[in-house]
Amino acid sequence: MTKEKIVELVNRKKDIFTDLSDRIWDHPETGLEEIYSSEAILEVLKKEGFETETGLAGIGTAFKGTWGSGHPVIGFLGEYDALAGMSQRSMSIEQIPEKEGCPGHGCGHNLLGAGALSAAVALKDYIGENGRTGTVVYFGCPAEETASCKTPMSRDGVFDELDIAITWHPADNSRVVTETCLTDAMMVFRFKGKSSHASAAPHLGRSALDAAELFNVGIQFLREHIPDGCRIQYAYLDVGGQAPNVVQNSASLYYDYRALNNDMARELMPRIVRVAEGAAHMTETEVEWEVTSAMSDYVPNLTLARIMGEAMEELGPVGFSKEANDFADKMTETIPETDKRNSAVNLKAYLGNEEGSRRAELHIQDMPLPYSENVSREMASTDVGDVSYVVPTVQCKACTETFGTQLHSWQAVSQGKSAIAHEGMIYAAKVMALTAAKVVDDPGITEKIKEEHSVNAPYYDCPLPEGIVPKVVR
Ligand SMILES: [Zn+2]
Ligand SMILES: [Zn+2]
Repeated sequence: MTKEKIVELVNRKKDIFTDLSDRIWDHPETGLEEIYSSEAILEVLKKEGFETETGLAGIGTAFKGTWGSGHPVIGFLGEYDALAGMSQRSMSIEQIPEKEGCPGHGCGHNLLGAGALSAAVALKDYIGENGRTGTVVYFGCPAEETASCKTPMSRDGVFDELDIAITWHPADNSRVVTETCLTDAMMVFRFKGKSSHASAAPHLGRSALDAAELFNVGIQFLREHIPDGCRIQYAYLDVGGQAPNVVQNSASLYYDYRALNNDMARELMPRIVRVAEGAAHMTETEVEWEVTSAMSDYVPNLTLARIMGEAMEELGPVGFSKEANDFADKMTETIPETDKRNSAVNLKAYLGNEEGSRRAELHIQDMPLPYSENVSREMASTDVGDVSYVVPTVQCKACTETFGTQLHSWQAVSQGKSAIAHEGMIYAAKVMALTAAKVVDDPGITEKIKEEHSVNAPYYDCPLPEGIVPKVVR
């Protein structure tokens, strides 16, 4: 009985991975600076007998661990980056920073990295203890939130050795992800002007800040004339100086734009650039721009997704403990009604009004949602998209949070070391390991999975230009 064996194997070592996840939560590091987190995962990989390699695609905190030989070659994708400024006290029902101004795990990537590793180790033990053949590879993928490192890793062939890739994401419910999402690219625009006395000689100055503001205004007008589903957002990286009596000679903007697919994103990008150049022209300043990161939309592999759907159905509910339920009863009081409504709307869209409304009353979604291929596009992005272009990929969400908790909120950080988080992460590990074990046990299935991929996945024209290496943008 494969299911019973996988459950036993994951349970046997679960303390190693809840402890690892907690330690990563305790040392939150933002993208490309995940030194503690990557070393903590590498240490477990080595102890478990994986051969490790660091510096993949020229990225310091990207790494992999390999165990076994022959096909299928199954990859597990782990993340471990935190979000800037999201520090929050653990298990608190009030918003109190643990360390003011420091990062925090608002997207649950402490769980993501440790949970994927738990699945990789369980699969290794399954293959080893049952005389099966196969190779298990764990990939440490840095900076999902900022530099989207799976994209340069995909571009540079890091995942080419795989037959399939498996991953997951923490959420307020559990289900297999069968829908696509948006592409996403980030660009930096730096305007340069000429400073002068803002009152005595404003005519001698050329304001880079004016250019940046006109650029943003131009983008508001552009919005009406771009395809539905595109998104354009921005943040200021530099507003010039602090003195209003100086004409500002520098200003920089960080732009984030999304589209339904890579072709649409390619058409949108030069239109954004033209608005920036127009703003520079109007203000007699100069503008330089660069693409700093990019992600493709997600190509689901339904042959593989159905196997994960079976795995989730066989495993049934998470079986959350009383401790997890009691904490959710407290945490739910802190979650804004708008946020709960948003999650309820999604549940109703997925399950229908009656069942969705019934489940939305529960503080924890113990029961996974049934497998479905009728799910609309998720209006978010992930660099798992790029992996899905180069290798058949499957992913699930697993319930690690009180219902209604939104990712990137203080409540998400607060719950990152709770019983809900631990139990949901171990559940995710079981789903992923059982999915992989089913592939290992069925010699013909890998070809079917690859056949679907060869038909459905468009040619991978990486949205991140050749030679661009991820970097911290400031
Ligand atoms: Zn996130
Ligand atoms: Zn995330």
